Amino acid sequence: MFRLSYIIHLSIYWLYSLFWYCFSKSETRNNFDRKKGIEVAKNVLYIQLTLLPVFSLPFIFFYDLYLPKNLKIIEIITEPLVKFPLMSLWEDILFYHIHRFFHTPKYYKYHKLHHSWKSPVPWGAMYASNTENVLVNFLPVLTAPLVVSLNIYFLPVWIFSVTISSVLAHNGDGKHDLHHQTFKGNYGTMGVCDWLYQTEEK
Ligand SMILES: [Zn+2]
Ligand SMILES: [Zn+2]
Repeated sequence: MFRLSYIIHLSIYWLYSLFWYCFSKSETRNNFDRKKGIEVAKNVLYIQLTLLPVFSLPFIFFYDLYLPKNLKIIEIITEPLVKFPLMSLWEDILFYHIHRFFHTPKYYKYHKLHHSWKSPVPWGAMYASNTENVLVNFLPVLTAPLVVSLNIYFLPVWIFSVTISSVLAHNGDGKHDLHHQTFKGNYGTMGVCDWLYQTEEK
């Protein structure tokens, strides 16, 4: 399941990016900076092949130890309907607070790289410093299955859903793209924390 999740992450991330590059008609695609696009692609691929597997190693151990491995019929319903929304909420809470913390002047240096592109491309989702990738991108996603005790068979589905939502958030016309342009508001992933703190921007 770990290897499958990793393969799904890589495939979805780059297939969607390629699809966007070939077919998107957004303004970002029309003004695409090719040199920067290649630099970002190299950087992200390096992170995906080094930092991501290394940081995931302890989680593979914990998943193996704590996540249920026998799939009950009822879990085919409970996992997507109950645990997935809870995991998304958990991700939103962690992502929002750590991301907002990185917008404070003292800690912005860790978030600066991700904001170096005002109109990011889908594969720029993981274009960030190592500190940011670990704390904002990896930690909320990888801890979520442990928090809800997700059945291990649903781990690839979870990885699929978070990968597709992160590339979609950088496709040129969403709320997170607005965050890249204005540097404020829309700090979260699913909007719950933005709604609670009234930091939603439209
Ligand atoms: Zn972003
Ligand atoms: Zn930001």
